[in-house]
Amino acid sequence: MTGTPAPFTSGDYEARMRHAAEAAAEAGLDGVLVAPGPDLVWLTGYRPVETERFTALVLRPGQDPVLVVPTLEAPDAAAAAPTLTLRDWTDGKDPYEVTGALLPDSGSLGVSDNTWALHLLGLQKRLPATRQIALTEALPMLRAVKSAAELDRLAAAGAAADATYEEIRKVPFAGRGETDVAADVAALLRQFGHSQVDFTIVASGPNGANPHHEAGDRVIEHGDMVVLDFGGLKHGYGSDTSRTVHVGEPDAEEREVHDIVREAQEAGFRAVRPGAACQDVDRAARAVITGAGYGEYFIHRTGHGIGVTTHEPPYMIEGEELPLVPGMCFSVEPGIYLPGRFGVRIEDIVAVTEDGGRRLNTTSRELVIVD
Ligand code: ZN
Ligand code: ZN
Ligand code: ZN
Repeated sequence: MTGTPAPFTSGDYEARMRHAAEAAAEAGLDGVLVAPGPDLVWLTGYRPVETERFTALVLRPGQDPVLVVPTLEAPDAAAAAPTLTLRDWTDGKDPYEVTGALLPDSGSLGVSDNTWALHLLGLQKRLPATRQIALTEALPMLRAVKSAAELDRLAAAGAAADATYEEIRKVPFAGRGETDVAADVAALLRQFGHSQVDFTIVASGPNGANPHHEAGDRVIEHGDMVVLDFGGLKHGYGSDTSRTVHVGEPDAEEREVHDIVREAQEAGFRAVRPGAACQDVDRAARAVITGAGYGEYFIHRTGHGIGVTTHEPPYMIEGEELPLVPGMCFSVEPGIYLPGRFGVRIEDIVAVTEDGGRRLNTTSRELVIVD
């Protein structure tokens, strides 16, 4: 896919807000409060600066949505969401009083996960009889099933991440710092159309055994395994892919561990089909690694959703019984982490289709040798 997709319209956002209000009513909520962050972007297209000044969208079943904004930010909000009703508050006024009057004073209120504690506590004082519940707990499916237009954007972001991998394979690794390769990755993601780079993991040798290692001072050596994991946003939607490369010829154990992870990733992918549970994807991938004797070294869940953020529900984890639905989009990313030695992770974004899964990352999952 090339070119810039047509932007979402006010009508698209109105449909999302209507859908959210209906889903809230079905879930027994009397209202939903959405603070700045991914839920607000998805529902309204508005992405304000997140500050101590209170901004929130109020959704009530059967009522028109209202966006509460600081007066000085009202023009920006009106430009981003021209058809939305605004209620502004000026410095010196109590925004929780303004907002509290719009919210249910009893029953249940869904609150977006990333609402600042400062703001939630301010509202709780105004609404002592209202029970607050995290939005992903109340409405876990709200953003999980992507529309065709959203899937196109996720596919475009995935293709840009794949193009980045194809180029980064060609750069020299041995003798350069992890941060140097990470800078190359970030530049490539931007070159291929990302407006935002969220992470550029380059974890060489023993650093690869730490799944959260980003990139550090270590100089990459001949003989290193190197975990590459990167992503960000393109046209407002996320990419996230991992491949593990080896500097020079790998030894037998490195090949074996990589083979196991590749097989586990394939098994996780094959478990993707409508009606399967999220945990089935985790179980399928984990069974391969456990069966090969490395179970204790696979120390994280198998995957996470992706959309207007690079990490969101649903999670592919034991205990998550949510059924997969066509249009869901998430990572399948098993790994093996051998402390003090090396790690291997392989990750593709996968979209659920009518009869299985579609990979949005399609670069080779073979162990690639770099210089
Ligand atoms: Zn090696
Ligand atoms: Zn990743
Ligand atoms: Zn991921």
